[in-house]
Amino acid sequence: MVTSSTALAVELSKVRFAYRTGHDVLAIEALAIGRGETVFLHGPSGSGKTTLLGLLAGVLPATSGQVKVLGEDFARMSSGARDAFRARHLGYVFQMFNLIPYLSVQENILLPIRLEAARRERLQGRSFDDAVRDVASQLDIERYLATPIGELSVGQQQRVAAARALIGSPDVVIADEPTSALDTDRREQFLELLFRSCEKARATLVFVSHDHTLMPLFSRIVELAEINTAAERWRRPTASHAARGGRD
Ligand code: ADP
Ligand code: MG
Repeated sequence: MVTSSTALAVELSKVRFAYRTGHDVLAIEALAIGRGETVFLHGPSGSGKTTLLGLLAGVLPATSGQVKVLGEDFARMSSGARDAFRARHLGYVFQMFNLIPYLSVQENILLPIRLEAARRERLQGRSFDDAVRDVASQLDIERYLATPIGELSVGQQQRVAAARALIGSPDVVIADEPTSALDTDRREQFLELLFRSCEKARATLVFVSHDHTLMPLFSRIVELAEINTAAERWRRPTASHAARGGRD
């Protein structure tokens, strides 16, 4: 069979993952996501959605099996190469945002393009200031550009995290419950920007959410339970999950 791996944004094969402290959280025989697909990933709390996104971002190493993103096998890359790959190709909106609290909104949004030339090039000659203003105004955070992150509400921080993920048009956008702290208007604004950015850059989107009303917006729905055979743990939330406030 001849397949072009470059047509795939994500390719998982016989992947298992366990945190050091426990049994397998993920056991996925195969998952392939084509370039340009927009994927809505859902499943119960504690079923491993955030963990799977960590594997896709090359932040968590698979215990066994193969994780390929844009044709590159993470296991064959040094950690430095993985970091560079992530900065170049991936935009990630974390569940916990991971913004740098002592930097301003503007500085946080600029981080990916400061770190990576390929992301800078996609600004197509626009100045950093213009690029930041552009994405910030679409998310209605323009007036906070000089404000330190620590002074923003959770919903505002969520929008800064989105702006940071989208600036410089990454090839793969990974979003972990990015709309959970947004009100209805802001959620629509956010999704519009997200889809517009992904379409413009022909980016692949992997989006985790509990909000099933969003499903029709996506080209594909993946229920984690259907592909993850490390299932027995889901029925009882673990102590560590409860200790984190039952957050998923
Ligand atoms: P979801 O995002 O679907 O709610 P997670 O991927 O966060 O699920 O968690 C999957 C399982 O892995 C849960 O049982 C959770 O308690 C456990 N887990 C998550 N993060 C860690 C960690 N850092 N160390 C150990 N166990 C973890
Ligand atoms: Mg989660």
